[in-house]
Amino acid sequence: MNLLIIRLIIFAVLFLAGLKLYRMYREWKLGREELLEGDRDASGGNQMVRCAWCQVHVPENDAQRATGEWFCSSAHRDRYLQEQEQRDAQDSDDSGPRA
Ligand SMILES: [Zn+2]
Repeated sequence: MNLLIIRLIIFAVLFLAGLKLYRMYREWKLGREELLEGDRDASGGNQMVRCAWCQVHVPENDAQRATGEWFCSSAHRDRYLQEQEQRDAQDSDDSGPRA
């Protein structure tokens, strides 16, 4: 009877150890895949960039670039530049009388 209990305990310990090892392996594999993905992004030249207008991520190849910002479409680029021009005009209006 005692032997059976010892066997059960050994079995339980082995089972838990195996579970822990499996989880560790899964985490390691996941981290490795993320690492590989990061490497591919850096070297592939098709990096994801964020549209400065709508914050959507698009591949660099499909993105539009203007004034150091990325955009998902020419429409958003135009809207952003328009807004920026208005902001700049307001800024100069505000600082005009003070200066
Ligand atoms: Zn956009």
